[in-house]
Amino acid sequence: MGKVATSGAEPAGGERRPCPFCAELILVEAKKCRYCQTMLVDAQGRPVIVGAESGGRPAVGAAGAAGMGSGAAPSSSAAADQAGPSLLSCLLANLVFPGLGSWRMGHRWRGFLIGAGLLLSILLYAQSAVPIYQKLLTQTLRGRKAVLTAEQQAELDDIIWHKVAAGLFIYSFVDVWLLYRLPTRRSS
Ligand SMILES: [Zn+2]
Repeated sequence: MGKVATSGAEPAGGERRPCPFCAELILVEAKKCRYCQTMLVDAQGRPVIVGAESGGRPAVGAAGAAGMGSGAAPSSSAAADQAGPSLLSCLLANLVFPGLGSWRMGHRWRGFLIGAGLLLSILLYAQSAVPIYQKLLTQTLRGRKAVLTAEQQAELDDIIWHKVAAGLFIYSFVDVWLLYRLPTRRSS
């Protein structure tokens, strides 16, 4: 954009590269960007990799504010802005309990509603289906052949709560993904 940075307080010479966060040219060996003040190495001195899935993600509060003139705002800044738990750990949290992933991402109400909705649909399914299966089990225990009557079959077919539960389970992962794509990290 023809903007020339001339603060001049930098040692002459040395290879330059664009800052991964604001795209201004900085020294290759720089540990901190002089334009956007982002740390380019982590506590162990390793270079920070933009868009890394886990760990070492820098907190870039005001990233880009300083160097927007270059017009090359990295598209990965949305991901880098999320200094919270990683996407993978939130997806795994949904396996522990659906909705826990959204909870971990700071959206507690969404996580709670997903988890509570799933529990409720499982309970409703059990309430409708367990008596039917119980009858079958009793028949089997008495040595009779367990056969569903057409009525029982129709009753089972009418139950949709296990489908609701499965849908909520799948949605818990979609929700984490949606939240991950949001530019703002926290709503609460
Ligand atoms: Zn920078």
